[in-house]
Amino acid sequence: MHDTLALRGRVVTFRDNPFVTDPVAALHHEEDGLVIIRDGRIERMGAYADTLPHLPAGTQVVHYPDCLISAGFVDTHVHYPQLPMIAAYGEQLLEWLERYTFPTESRFCDPAHAHDIARRFLTELLRCGTTTAAVFCTVHPQSVEAFFTESERLNTLMIAGKVLMDRNAPPDLRDTAQGGYDDSLALMEHWHGRGRQMYAVTPRFAPTSSEEQLELAGALLARDDSVFMQTHLAENVDEVAWVRQLFPARRSYLDVYAHAGLVRPRAILGHAIHVDEPDLATCHDSGCALAHCPTSNLFLGSGSFRLFDAMDPRRPVRVGLGTDIGAGTSLSQLQSLNEAYKIAQGTGHRLHPAQAFWLATAGGARALHLDHRIGTIAPGMEADLCILDPAATPLQALRAQSCDSISDLLFSLMMLGDDRSIRATYVAGRKVHERA
Ligand SMILES: [Zn+2]
Repeated sequence: MHDTLALRGRVVTFRDNPFVTDPVAALHHEEDGLVIIRDGRIERMGAYADTLPHLPAGTQVVHYPDCLISAGFVDTHVHYPQLPMIAAYGEQLLEWLERYTFPTESRFCDPAHAHDIARRFLTELLRCGTTTAAVFCTVHPQSVEAFFTESERLNTLMIAGKVLMDRNAPPDLRDTAQGGYDDSLALMEHWHGRGRQMYAVTPRFAPTSSEEQLELAGALLARDDSVFMQTHLAENVDEVAWVRQLFPARRSYLDVYAHAGLVRPRAILGHAIHVDEPDLATCHDSGCALAHCPTSNLFLGSGSFRLFDAMDPRRPVRVGLGTDIGAGTSLSQLQSLNEAYKIAQGTGHRLHPAQAFWLATAGGARALHLDHRIGTIAPGMEADLCILDPAATPLQALRAQSCDSISDLLFSLMMLGDDRSIRATYVAGRKVHERA
């Protein structure tokens, strides 16, 4: 007996990369579409009238007449333990870590606290239409256990890992190079590839790991190509200067990671604001991904990520979108896109709404080398979807009335939308959130 479900509405997805081809042409739009889901995967998608004859008898059809059906959002950089300290006043990166982040993360030695925050975090994520994320836990293995246990319960496709940090941090948040390796290996063996859960080797950033710890992180990755790596790169000018001091022999901040064998496919580097052309060329060649975190970069005054330099078709770098909670100010990728648009404007570029939504869905999946599983609506893809309501508030309803194209409607959503715009969220074909 198969489990089938069908969703009817305006379908938006991608058939191409809108940074390489005409953005409007890359966007695939079905005015009245039908998505047939079977056993957690998309079996068929097309115009309602054409697809209806293929609907298995007895299948429930859920109709969202005024909404858009999109692939679920992908968040390529976020810290679940920092959810309670979102919106912490006044500091830039290094002081912000000392004053707010480390005390908040030290509470995750308590498994009950870790489960509670993991549950709230995943609930919030799904309320925002995000179905996959690359997630930092804390230095405590129990913070990873808690996160994966809660994610497995929801069957969400999540990437997460234990933070490695053996220096320049408070004693209760420090591991050792060998201890961090052993704990990571045990977690990796238990969780990586178990259902939809995937492990990421997670050095916080170069200043809090010794050279020995970074090398052991590289050794962990060398054991299994399918394991992820996540860290931070060149977010803030003081941080970059500190790394230069700590690793004087390396050409650049990125080179610290490259030297340890960390820069490779499925490596996700958060921020990458203060990087140069040779760094971007290394990123292109290696197949790693950069996570653009607009609300965080503006909140901490870190600088402006040069998205269009990174996406240069002559040596394109894989880029995804990150909320970077707790430095980010919203878990909603619509809010990330709002700020990404403004950052692009400030650097002399225009972020087309098709490019923006691609970054939040198909592009994010591609950045993570998961585009064969998630990020688009097509036969065989896993049915992680969000239902977007372009008229969630009276103002948005008014604005939507004047939209004369799907691009304009998407633009109004990314500028005015947030969690209220998410009518429902589906994970592997099962509804996991419905707006009240
Ligand atoms: Zn971060």
